[in-house]
Amino acid sequence: MTVKEDKLTALAVENMPDENGFFGEYGGRFIPPALESIMEEIEQAYLEIRKDPAFIEELAVLNKHFTGRPSPVYHCKALSEAIGGGQIYLKREDLNHTGAHKINHCLGEALLAKRLGKKKIIAETGAGQHGVALATAAALVGLECDIYMGEVDIAKEYPNVVRMQILGAKVVPVGHGLKTLKEAVDAAFEAYLADPVTQLYAIGSVVGPHPFPMMVRDFQSIIGREAREQIQEMTGKLPDNLVACVGGGSNAIGLFSAFLQDEDVNIYGVEPSGSSLNYGEHAATLSLGTPGLIHGFKSYVLQDDEGNPAPVNTIASGLDYPGVGPQHSYLKDVERVNYEVINNDEAIDAFFRLSREEGIIPAIESSHAVAYAMKLAATLDRDQTILINLSGRGDKDIDFVVENYGKKYGIE
Ligand SMILES: *Cc1c(COP(=O)(O)O)cnc(C)c1O
Repeated sequence: MTVKEDKLTALAVENMPDENGFFGEYGGRFIPPALESIMEEIEQAYLEIRKDPAFIEELAVLNKHFTGRPSPVYHCKALSEAIGGGQIYLKREDLNHTGAHKINHCLGEALLAKRLGKKKIIAETGAGQHGVALATAAALVGLECDIYMGEVDIAKEYPNVVRMQILGAKVVPVGHGLKTLKEAVDAAFEAYLADPVTQLYAIGSVVGPHPFPMMVRDFQSIIGREAREQIQEMTGKLPDNLVACVGGGSNAIGLFSAFLQDEDVNIYGVEPSGSSLNYGEHAATLSLGTPGLIHGFKSYVLQDDEGNPAPVNTIASGLDYPGVGPQHSYLKDVERVNYEVINNDEAIDAFFRLSREEGIIPAIESSHAVAYAMKLAATLDRDQTILINLSGRGDKDIDFVVENYGKKYGIE
């Protein structure tokens, strides 16, 4: 084996993380001693069920008949033509039941909770997508569900709040700090610490202590496995480029993980640079953060002078997190994935562009990936391809977008 092959093999899903949950120096488990045995229990249960044919079959049936998988891959002919460069394809995670990729890991986590004999599943939510997906999975599997959500996000994403309540979940408002995603994670963690025996904390992304970054990645990796086959069938080759937005990084790693060893596939993760790159006005963790600890794991983190997580603020609630999944930190350091930024205005422009060229309204989060892909496409030859993970649909965002940007785009 050459050194290069060695390096690529190390990136394989089955070789990451190591047995202590580390991706290089990132990840691990930095938690209060009281949680140690609980995390150990979750890890052991997960390592068992992921090989259990009954579990694999149960999840496969739900993915197909409940979520509607496989999600299609779609060629954006009009948009590609208008840009006049590379060919843009979308992996349509927006078409999943509940409208985003998060249902993929929520079904897995809910089945795991049931298997562990838990009564209740709890979580934080930013845009409300994780909360809705988890409330959906809890209703399906027969578990109680508490969702912690910042008051700012509750106001911004109100339709999702009502959805969770209709599904039988309890939405717990979080009113301290910036009242967004980071505070919601803090509150959910605290609630979990108070009763880790009857509850399972279902983290909303590839973040948190081991085994969550691994587990959530594995549940999301169905995106990449499907897409790899689909795009080859459509174009006769692997995609030349992959693009996905990165909040915690679950939709991105879900797509990327099937292609990490294909060195000819260029991979781009897109973070939000918000209204500016000034402190507190973006969530570009991998571009501007430094290694540190957050929510029980080591990763790049946006931090203040004392090492506390910095405030973040962008138009995409689902990307507003001052940390990032540890595997992304590793993939940045080994230079396998390029991490780029897109600002609020560029994302909104892509939101309208995809809606009007293709008849697909993307989530504001996903619009960041679309915006970067549009820039990239302009630099490519026409026979080159870009596969975007369209992580979610934009229905949840329409009121916010029209109120704040409608005029600019001809909506009175
Ligand atoms: C939550 C969310 C994201 C961000 O989460 P990741 O873990 O980074 O994928 C992106 N897109 C949509 C539609 C979301 O709901």
